Formats: sequence, structure tokens, C-alpha cells
Amino acid sequence: LPAADVESLQPADVARLLPRPGSDAHKYTRGVVGVRAGSTDYPGAGLLSVAGAASGLCGMVRYVGNADVAVRVRAAHPEVVGEGQVQAWVVGSGSGPDAARELAAALSDGVPTVIDADALAHVTGPVAPPTVLTPHAGELARMLGIDRGTIEARPLAHARDAADRYDAVVLLKGRHTLVAAPGGRVRVTTTGTPWLATAGAGDVLGGLIGALLAAGLDPFDAASVGSWLHGAAATLAGGGGPLSAGRVAEAIPDAVRRMGQST
Ligand code: AMP
Ligand code: MG
Repeated sequence: LPAADVESLQPADVARLLPRPGSDAHKYTRGVVGVRAGSTDYPGAGLLSVAGAASGLCGMVRYVGNADVAVRVRAAHPEVVGEGQVQAWVVGSGSGPDAARELAAALSDGVPTVIDADALAHVTGPVAPPTVLTPHAGELARMLGIDRGTIEARPLAHARDAADRYDAVVLLKGRHTLVAAPGGRVRVTTTGTPWLATAGAGDVLGGLIGALLAAGLDPFDAASVGSWLHGAAATLAGGGGPLSAGRVAEAIPDAVRRMGQST
């Protein structure tokens, strides 16, 4: 990688695609993202999804998940509100036994949706709303009913196959993040660090992509720009060394700011 038929997302592309508030913006015009993630056994995944969503790229974040998690979300993120209309959903990180119900609730709204982690197991065919699926190799293997090594041997082919099969953008996580759209278009993002291989990093990414969907980016751009910023934030947070997922979320605004300065 990257193969000849894969686009490599460049900083100038990210700068062009980034949603920026106009001087007449208000929070609703900037987009509202809803998060259905976390469960009683996995509250942290809900908190980290919210942290990624609340990094400032859209106008508002709603948490509409598990009640125990909601108490902690409100304590950690006072700007996050409850039920109401959203322009995009993020569903599945740490959802555990609630994953099927949360996925059905999100998809019934018909708005663009990021489907991660536990909710991926309940995706069995084409998804109706514009969707970003965010599996790592193990999760994609389980979805496709093949083994992880098969995915890892040919990640590009399997990401493309999954995008066509589910009629969704598929962001395949790993050493190189591949973003595949139905029809064969693929972008690779070159930011990031192996230190991102740490619990919760993917939950932050899902939240961030949800915020970009809410802000109006199409699923292919939201997934690839989100992945690019997530990697850039990880490099800022870790300085080339170890990091925690929460620190990656905190570094997203700085990654965006630096992007703005490079244009
Ligand atoms: P998850 O598996 O859901 O926790 O997500 C892990 C996150 O870390 C994703 O954003 C991956 O792209 C990233 N990641 C995992 N392993 C590596 C690696 N070896 N090099 C770079 N990024 C990685
Ligand atoms: Mg994950």
C-alpha cells in the first residue's frame, strides 16, 4: 500500500474539506450529532465516543444511550445534551447487549450513521441511510464470515468488497486506514502512529466521524478526513510516544487548528 488505484488523502484535501463555521453560523446550522454508545459494562467506550464527537467540529452533541453512562457523560462533558433531533448518529462502541436495539433506533431515523464495534455484528446486508462502517480486521472478518488473516492479507480487496456488499463507506482500521466507497473508490490516510493501537482509540474516531457527518460532509469525506485528523491528533497527543485515547480526543482541536494554518 498504497496501490496505484488508491487515493492518498493530502493535507490540502483535508484543509479544503474541513467544515468551518461562517460568521452567521449558529449551533444548529453547524449540525447536531447523536451518540448511542456505551453500556453498563462498557461505560468508557460511550464516554470516548462522546469525547470524539464533542471535539468542536459540529454544533451540538446529544447522548442518547444507557442511563448509567449518561450520568457520567453529563459529568465529564457539560456541553452534551439529551434527546432531540440529530443530523447524524454514532452507534455501537461498547454497546454490548444493547447493540442491536441501538442500531435499529439509529437507522430508523434515516440520517447518516457511523456504525462501530458491537453494532457491526448486526449489519447483515445493505444499510439504508448513508453509513460509515468502522471495523478493524477482526470485526470485518466476523461480518464477512472469513478469518482475520484473510482480511490482513488483502485489506484493500476486502474493504472494497464490504463497501459494495453493505452499500456503505467502509473504514478498515489498522496499520494503514483504508476508506472504501461503494463502486471501488478508496482513500488511504497516512497520518497516525502505532501507539494508536490502544483501547478506546477507535471509539474516539467514530465520534469524530459522526461530528463531521453532522456538519454535512458526505460519508466518504467524513470517514477519510476524520481518520486523517485522528491520526494527526494522536501524533500531537503522544509526541511520537505513548498516548491514551482520551488525550487523542483532547488533541483534535489542535490538529484542526494546525490544518487551518497550513492553508
Ligand atoms: P479500535 O481497534 O477500534 O480500538 O481502533 C484502533 C485505532 O487505532 C484505529 O484508529 C486504528 O486505525 C489505529 N491503529 C491500530 N493499530 C494501528 C497501527 N499498527 N498503526 C497505526 N494505527 C493503528
Ligand atoms: Mg473499536
